[in-house]
This record gives sequence, structure tokens and C-alpha cells, in this order.
Amino acid sequence: MTRTPSSVSRIILPLIVAVALLLPAVPVAAWTASATGYSTHDWIVDQAVKVLDGRASDWFNAAVAREASDDPDTDGVPDIYHVYRDVGKRGGAVHRITEHYAAAMRLYQEGVAARSAGNASTASARFQAASREIGWLSHYYTDILVPYHSHYDGIGQDTAHHQYEALVGQQTRKAGDRPDWSSSRRSVATISSIRTSAIAAAAHSRTFYPELHSLVLASPTKLTARMSEITGLLLVRSANDLADIIWSISAGKGNAAPIGSLSASVKWTYPVKNEPWQGVFVTATDTAGRPMEGLEVLITLPLPVGSTTTVKVFTDPKGQAKWAGQIGASAHLVRQDVTARATTDGRTVTGMTWWATSPVLASGSDGFRSWVDNATPVAGEYVTVRSTVRDTAGRAVVGIRVNWTWSYGATKQSTTALTNSQGVAASKRLVSSSTTFDTVVIDAHVQSGSGNRYSRAAFQRQPGGTSEPYKGWFTDIWDSKFRDDIVWLAEAGITVGCSADRYCPDGPVTREQMATFLVRALKLPSSSKDFFTDDGASKHHASINALAASGITSGCGDRKFCPSGRVTREQMASFLTRGLSLPPTQRNYFSDDDSSRHHAAINALAASGITSGCGTDRFCPRTTVTRGQMAAFLRRALTR
Ligand SMILES: [Zn+2]
Ligand SMILES: [Zn+2]
Repeated sequence: MTRTPSSVSRIILPLIVAVALLLPAVPVAAWTASATGYSTHDWIVDQAVKVLDGRASDWFNAAVAREASDDPDTDGVPDIYHVYRDVGKRGGAVHRITEHYAAAMRLYQEGVAARSAGNASTASARFQAASREIGWLSHYYTDILVPYHSHYDGIGQDTAHHQYEALVGQQTRKAGDRPDWSSSRRSVATISSIRTSAIAAAAHSRTFYPELHSLVLASPTKLTARMSEITGLLLVRSANDLADIIWSISAGKGNAAPIGSLSASVKWTYPVKNEPWQGVFVTATDTAGRPMEGLEVLITLPLPVGSTTTVKVFTDPKGQAKWAGQIGASAHLVRQDVTARATTDGRTVTGMTWWATSPVLASGSDGFRSWVDNATPVAGEYVTVRSTVRDTAGRAVVGIRVNWTWSYGATKQSTTALTNSQGVAASKRLVSSSTTFDTVVIDAHVQSGSGNRYSRAAFQRQPGGTSEPYKGWFTDIWDSKFRDDIVWLAEAGITVGCSADRYCPDGPVTREQMATFLVRALKLPSSSKDFFTDDGASKHHASINALAASGITSGCGDRKFCPSGRVTREQMASFLTRGLSLPPTQRNYFSDDDSSRHHAAINALAASGITSGCGTDRFCPRTTVTRGQMAAFLRRALTR
């Protein structure tokens, strides 16, 4: 296919500008076409058809593919897509190849469906469209098999690059030319992933670059025997791979795995205004969790300040890509969002990160210092660490994140908080009977003005204190205000926790758990009768039947118990009122439960002193009961 002058100028002019500004020159097509329009790209399609040896001929249209293979740039595709290098500006050929493959696969399968449905004209149109995608794919695939397109050192070697391509182009003017460069293979294999195949093709061609380039420099106007030999190896690889690709589409195989996740991070979360070395790092993994190489990622930066700029990058073998550069002078501690976006086969995945400029801090402890309010606590007391953040003018830095690492011997705990209007951030932890008697060091970290600052505080637990009885109890209850109730519940044998050493005080109480709590608390007898149809798989099955036999529950309707349903405060009122046989009362205690069908039970519970509601005059009937609250209810119910 020959270009019209207008399409040439439309494409070439922006390219010249782009090349002059930031890119080394890369020709639009690797192999030059003759006056008849037949180029090495067409020659490779013809060689692939020979390798296929009749396979895929029921749908693959080589004439359509040849036409597309010369000139994908009429789509306005810029030159960076025709290369795939080892380092630096990698190029997007692998991305284009995987995208055209996915499109070809989809169109081929639509063609097959139309053919089965007896719609011959639709089938033919889809197969032609699939062949066109393969032609485009073939262009980029052949490009990266040219070492000048796959090796970083090929950048800037335009003269040798074009001389070499012209020498090869002159000798591939029809399908039968250069039989010694044509593949003799007549078998095909399915590929496992087009992304992997394309990356491997670029790596293969790259190995020939140093030798080929020195040969071209030495013989710029004539192919030597060794240049011819290398060219043959590359062109045979192109034809064999292309045949495998076409065959794999027939077999419905080889589509690259879609994007699983795209994560983004920044070098400086809190950079100084006009930071010259900010970085944005993106990592892409596929749906199997493997790094995705050669993926095009669009990073939208909050630059210039108040606006956005989108840059295009391509991931490396670790699935990583980056943008690095100078940022502007956005207002201090105002979040500037960064979005990374990648699309494969029509599906877009995004990742987010941000930065906020912040001031440079005063030096030493004037800028960042930390201290504890209680350096010699006993068990049962809290230690609060505070950190002050001030800029070079001594002003409080407000709303910046401070991180603390508390080292209890080899065990470390992390906490974090934002500074308040005084520039002070605080975090507290309980000292328990399991806290070490050795010095506990608290390392504080803050980032501000493109700098990391550290300070330190410490405390040492003293003998004595109130929480000695908790030794050996659950590890996750020390910060719960229900910890006394939980310990009581465990000592009474009513709970064994949610795992070997945890109680999960903030977790919800499910109806099946409630059954076990009540059966143990009220010592209800077991029952041989099976009351419900939906609790056979529950490990609380026996408790549920015991609860039903005692008349405390009649289930959630229709012979069901709803074992995994969450217990609300109003339901709990009914369970406890029935379980404890609490007497009814005439008094109405709360204003927010009048419409509840558990109204009488709620008032009975209040009259017994087991609940005082969730605030002045309120019971919060529909709120879910936590396991910590459940411990408190049961303790009050059983120790009245
Ligand atoms: Zn090209
Ligand atoms: Zn080229």
C-alpha cells in the first residue's frame, strides 16, 4: 500500500518534531518498500504462508495482511511503537503486538461464530479484519527482529540503520526472492503467550546488534556473506514466529494474560516545592500475579500545578515503569493526585498515588523531636508518644504523617498519625503484663521537604500494675474497653476466642456464635431434635438446636436459623430476655425503639440493669453487636 502525500506529511511532520525534540530518529517502516509497494514486510507474510503450508487458509487472507503490514502508520501510530529496546525508552512494539493479537483473536472467533450461523458475508468480513490485525502485528513483529529496533545502542545510528534496511529491502521484492532467507520449516506450533513471544523475538534480534552494526559500518553499500547470514536468521525467525502466531489464533491460544493490577508509588510523598527529582513508579502484574513486561502505561501527573499532563511509559521485565522529573510549586500539604492507567484488550486498570509538597524542617530537634509522657509505666497504663514537626521558621507543620516503630525486643509494632494544628502528632499503646521489662525504643519518622527525618523516644516498664491478671489471655484485647468483660467471659468458660490467642473484640457477633455464647452462659441442655434446615454445616449446630429446644429462639422464619446473620442489639435483647426469663416492665426507657418488634424485650433488658442504651435516651436497636459488647452484656446478665 502506497501512502498519499497528505497522509505522509500528516505523519512525518509530527514525527520530525518529536524526533528533533526528544527521540533519536527511527524510520516509520523498518524495511523500505519498492515502487510497486512490495517490501520486506510483505515478503515475510508470504514466507509465513509457506510455513503454514495450507493451514489457516480457510480464514487467513494474506493479501489483506500484506497490505496492512506495510503501513500501520496511516493510523497515526508514532514511531516509538516500532521499537522495543532493552533499557531506557523501551518502545511500544510489544504492546502493539499483544493488542493486535487480542483483536485478531476476537475477530477470528466472531468470524467462526458467523460461519457456524451460516452468515457467510459477516464471516468473511470478520476474517478479513482479523487478517488486517495480523498484518499490523506482523509489521511491529518484523520491526523488532531488526537489531536496530531492539538494541539501545541502535539509537542515533540512523545512517547505518537505513543503509542496512535498504540493502535487505532491495533483495526482497517478491515472494520468491532470496530463497536462502526463506524458512524451510513446514510445521507449526501454538504459542503460549504473544507477549512472551514478542519479548523473546526482540531479545533474539538484540544479540546480533554489535556484530551486525560493525559489519554495516565496514560495508555500508553491499551485504557481505556474514551480514546475509545474520539477515537470514532474523527473517527465518520472523516467518516461523508469524506462522505460529496465525496458527495459534486458529487454535484459540496464545492471548496474553490481562492486567491483574497496576500499583503506583512516588519517590517523595512529601517533596519540597519545585523538587527536581520527583519520581513516579508503576508496577504491573497480570491476572496470575506475574510481572507484565512491555505494557504501555499512561501516567497522569498533576503538572503544571492546577492542570494535568499525561506521559506514556512502557514496563520493563520486572513489570516496572517510571516517570522522573521536576514538579511545580503546589500549595503545601495539598494532595496532588497521580493516576496510572493501562489498557489491554479493551480492559483498563488504574493505579493511584499522590504527593503533597511540604516545607523543609528546622535542623535537629527544633524540626522534629519525639518524647513519651510516661517513661516508667506499670502494666495497665498507657504510654503516649508525641512528635513535633516545625519548619525552618519555627512554624508548626500541620497535617503531615508521622510514623512510629515501637521495638519490644525483636517484636516491632507500627503506628501512625497526622500532626494537629500545633504540629504535634500522637500515638498511644497500652502497657500490659506481657510487655517486656527491657527498654522499649520508639523510632519516629517523618518526611517533609524532600527529606526524611528521624527521632527517638523510649520507656521502660516497671514491676506492678493492674493488669497482671491478664497474663496469658488474648493478645488483641488490650486496647478494648471491654477487656475486663472479655477476660471474665473466658474465665467463665463461655468463650475460647476467635483463634488460638485472639478474641476479635471488634468483630460482629453472628447468630450461630450467639447460640454458643448463650448455651454456655445459661448451661442449656443439648437436644437431639434438628430444628432448622440451614444450619447443618455450622460448627455451632448443636448449640443452635439446644437454643431452639429451650424456647429462646424460633429461628428467622420458614424453618431457618440464618446462622451467619449478624446479631443486632434488638435481637440480642430478645435472646437475653427469654434466656434469663426477665420480667416485663411498663416503663419505656428509650425513644428510638418504639417501632421495634423487640420493644418489650428491650425495656425488660433495661429494667434489669443489663443495658443503659447507646447514649442518652437511645438504644440503637438496629446496630450490630460486637464481640466485645457481647462480653459486656453477658457479664452483666450473669453477675446481676
Ligand atoms: Zn515500523
Ligand atoms: Zn528500521
